[in-house]
Amino acid sequence: MNISILMFGSENFLASLPDQIHNANLFSVETIANFNLAVSRIQNTPPDIILVQASLEGSMGLCCWLQEQIKLSWIYCILLEDRPQLLADQSKYGSNWELEITSAVLRQGADAYIWCMETLDATSVQGWHHLLLAQLTVGSRKVQKYRDLIRTNDLLSAIALADSLTELNNRRALEWDLPRQIQNARTNHTPLSLIMLDVDYFKKVNDTYGHLVGDRLLQLLSIRLRHNLRFQDTPFRYGGEEFVIILSNTGCEEALIVAHRLNGIISEQPFAVNNKYAINVTISLGTTCLGPNDDDQGVSLLNRADQYLLCAKATGRNRVIGTHNYLSHTSHLQTVSPYPLSVDRTLTLCNCCALSHGIN
Ligand code: GH3
Ligand code: MG
Ligand code: MG
Repeated sequence: MNISILMFGSENFLASLPDQIHNANLFSVETIANFNLAVSRIQNTPPDIILVQASLEGSMGLCCWLQEQIKLSWIYCILLEDRPQLLADQSKYGSNWELEITSAVLRQGADAYIWCMETLDATSVQGWHHLLLAQLTVGSRKVQKYRDLIRTNDLLSAIALADSLTELNNRRALEWDLPRQIQNARTNHTPLSLIMLDVDYFKKVNDTYGHLVGDRLLQLLSIRLRHNLRFQDTPFRYGGEEFVIILSNTGCEEALIVAHRLNGIISEQPFAVNNKYAINVTISLGTTCLGPNDDDQGVSLLNRADQYLLCAKATGRNRVIGTHNYLSHTSHLQTVSPYPLSVDRTLTLCNCCALSHGIN
């Protein structure tokens, strides 16, 4: 494992460090002697270990600053003491002067503190070189543990956000992604649209062929969807046989075109399941696009797409219903939200259908 080291210190001081540090197979070392440059380098490309030359202006400040950076907590900070005046001032600290100074430095923010002066009693160049190499081992171990943790974390996130049947992103992933996509769209003044789709009469598939065939069909349908999306479209399994697709950088009109294309792609060819069945299915789709009055979490956006999907179901299935522009859906949606249940809902949704402009 190659460990990256940032040396906040001079080139001369770096040259006085043990030879092993200069071994490019073990460490990649960069030297910076300016506090602000060091801070921006750490923020932009965080190293694994920081070696800080104590005699440099801002040395303790850098250790303290690093201590406060929660997102950089894995970086191991070693303060290298090279100030001879400390030896001269030792009477100020009493008989336990070395312990006093060390504990003060560690309390303030350094993870390790090493005296790099051979003039000290019982401290030779060999002695502190040894100690520094040992501390680099401790730092490397910490980095390794951190990297393992990140890898495990990534794996767990992938498991938590993926749907095990279809391998699409799941509803939790949608709830995480949608607010971010909305924020991006608003910050960059780009359009954002959403498609909600549901397989028509899917219960019949299960009832006719069994649940395992139904499962396989959902997998094949997900693959077909995924293969026919553009790079900016992200599909999610919303639940059961219902899917949501976020279309970034896409306006209302374009979303309708994408939805219409998907409608055709699913219905025009049967799904070959287990080389045994050729099953024809259709889907119904509702589309909508982000408007200025939509909430940041995407609740109103999802609600609207759901209402259009229900319109598509109520008016015969195997079709797309959505809006051509934001203004066309703001007026009539007030009449359907919040919608009541069952019969009333269907009636209200039919009103909605009458007002919307679907592509059938
Ligand atoms: P509609 O056109 O109104 O959507 O009719 P539908 O039959 O598709 O809708 P309904 O809600 O009545 O039934 C959905 C069915 O989808 C029932 C449920 O068992 C099935 N389903 C949901 N999730 C899965 C799954 O993971 N695997 C299988 N095999 N079936 C599923
Ligand atoms: Mg269905
Ligand atoms: Mg459904």
